[in-house]
Amino acid sequence: MDTNHLLSKTTFLRSVQCRKSLYLNRYTPDLRDPPDLSQEAVFRTGREVHTLARELFPDGVEVSTGESYDPEAWLQKTRAYMGEGVEVLFEAVFEHDQVLVIVDILVRAGTKWKAYEVKSSTSVKEPYDWDVAVQYHILSNSGIELDDFSILHINNNYVRHGDLDLEALFTNASMFEVVKEMEPEVMTHIEEAKAVLAELNVPEIDIGPYCDEPYPCDFMGYCWRHIPEGSVFNVARMKKAHKFGLYKDGIVRIIDIPEDFPLNATSKVHVEGEKYGRSIIDQVALEDFLNSLEYPLYFLDFETFNPAIPPFDGTKPYNQIPFQYSLHRKSSPDGELSHSGFLAESNIDPRIPLIESLLRDIHAPGDILAYNRPFEARVLRDLAEAFPESASQLEDLSSRLVDLMEPFQKRYYYLPEMSGSYSIKAVLPALVPELSYESLEISEGTQAMEAYYQLGIETNPRIIERIRTDLWEYCKFDTLAMVRILENIESL
Ligand code: SF4
Repeated sequence: MDTNHLLSKTTFLRSVQCRKSLYLNRYTPDLRDPPDLSQEAVFRTGREVHTLARELFPDGVEVSTGESYDPEAWLQKTRAYMGEGVEVLFEAVFEHDQVLVIVDILVRAGTKWKAYEVKSSTSVKEPYDWDVAVQYHILSNSGIELDDFSILHINNNYVRHGDLDLEALFTNASMFEVVKEMEPEVMTHIEEAKAVLAELNVPEIDIGPYCDEPYPCDFMGYCWRHIPEGSVFNVARMKKAHKFGLYKDGIVRIIDIPEDFPLNATSKVHVEGEKYGRSIIDQVALEDFLNSLEYPLYFLDFETFNPAIPPFDGTKPYNQIPFQYSLHRKSSPDGELSHSGFLAESNIDPRIPLIESLLRDIHAPGDILAYNRPFEARVLRDLAEAFPESASQLEDLSSRLVDLMEPFQKRYYYLPEMSGSYSIKAVLPALVPELSYESLEISEGTQAMEAYYQLGIETNPRIIERIRTDLWEYCKFDTLAMVRILENIESL
């Protein structure tokens, strides 16, 4: 069986998002941006969820995974297995009209078949319609009579108790009616995509809202290279349509935004800071904030990981599970600064040792400062739910949380160097330029999460030691940054 396919499901989805992406991917793939850490983590999660979903269908036969790329052999194997009466196929391959698709799970249902697309998300998202619709079109035109086509995704209400209950962890959503309705549209898109690939030149498509909808395009580094820093696309809280409206009018830099362009309060602060160097220091509001603080002050930051598959009892899919915290303590505005912290061993449930350490380190009274309070509050709430015996103490900690982000989020304090943002990564260099995340090996939460994952698989003691040191330095830096930011406010 020969295959001369022009499109796969993935390239078809590219063409739905942007025809230029399809063309560049085919003829100049080197221009693609390399996947970043968070994308790598998403791919890994996807693989783990797929592997687990297969366990719902015992005795399945694998067609195309783990082999070198050979679509012809896969097509033949698919046909052979189906002819032999195999009941369940994983990664079965079909081709029609020069489009090749790989179906996650295909299950015999009498004389018909049920198809499943596995997703690691907790709901059916709109772009999945195309994903499944193109597979349906190819299968039904390859002589496969389908009884249903479903998306198998994660049930976010599942709480693990003991062994994983796969029936409860996964939930099934039929897409059959949707994909049947979409078939004419799919056929039109396939023809358009083929026409694009037959063109001699790159389609003339400028950047647009589709560059990150529904997925961030991996040609943004190439297509967006003419957009400078400090562009209208960076304006805080401005609607995407307004940003592209300005761009279409030839206005690219923030400093060129016309005076009469309507801006909401947040965007206005950013734009005026950029254009005229305007700062905001609301002394009264800042004083109120400082006066509300009760010393001794604790500065707390958690590092977490959020696996799709709940690893421990009492966890749900994508729960933020803390594995580390850093805690600075200051007895008074001029008092001494002390530090403590916790970093779990890898491959264990870190929550009980973390709770024990946290409750040893934080005493009453005193406020607990966090940067983005809802995150720390959620971690404490999840811990309290999972460990009722510590719930009242954890709830007490949660009730003492104060958000250090508030003065910046509410614009009591704004400097143009913050570039419209109130994240700690923007506020710290504006207020305390001598402290920089750039000197750290780990400089953001996603990297910390990846580092903790690496700890779980790394065997070289020297590398383990280095990763743990990097994690300690990063988390400690986060709370030290909070201390210095507060001191800066106090100095005003
Ligand atoms: S970056 Fe935007 S314009 Fe360029 S290929 Fe991707 S979606 Fe198309």
